[in-house]
Amino acid sequence: MGLLDQIYRQLVVDHSKNRRNHRKLDGTNVKHLHYKNPTCGDVMTLFMKLSEEQVIEDISFIGEGCSISMASASMMTELLKGVPMDEALKLRSAMEQFIKTGEVAEDCDLGDSLSLQGVHKLRARHNCALMAWQAFDRVIEKS
Ligand code: ZN
Repeated sequence: MGLLDQIYRQLVVDHSKNRRNHRKLDGTNVKHLHYKNPTCGDVMTLFMKLSEEQVIEDISFIGEGCSISMASASMMTELLKGVPMDEALKLRSAMEQFIKTGEVAEDCDLGDSLSLQGVHKLRARHNCALMAWQAFDRVIEKS
């Protein structure tokens, strides 16, 4: 195993054990959404607070599931916090491409989520890595 693979593996383990932003959000203007990944049994609730200027002021989750799903959700909240919605949507589609092909779109910094690169070879785990992002799609639609 190469050095980069080892670093990636450690990042996934770290995020799945020490989940960032793993808490409920309360207050006005907080949307939340329950989501389930039927292929693996992963479950999560995503919380998001959007400002009037369409910036993601805060984002968090609670959930249980495999290490890939929990690490990916943790990484997603770190990536999206403080980010304007138009930028977040670019990251969203870059992430889908990244998980399915292993390729990173130009001008996109996926942060720690880059450590999920190996998942593109494991088709059965694509939904685990994308679960949080699918929940993000749906929480946006919720009015
Ligand atoms: Zn899973």
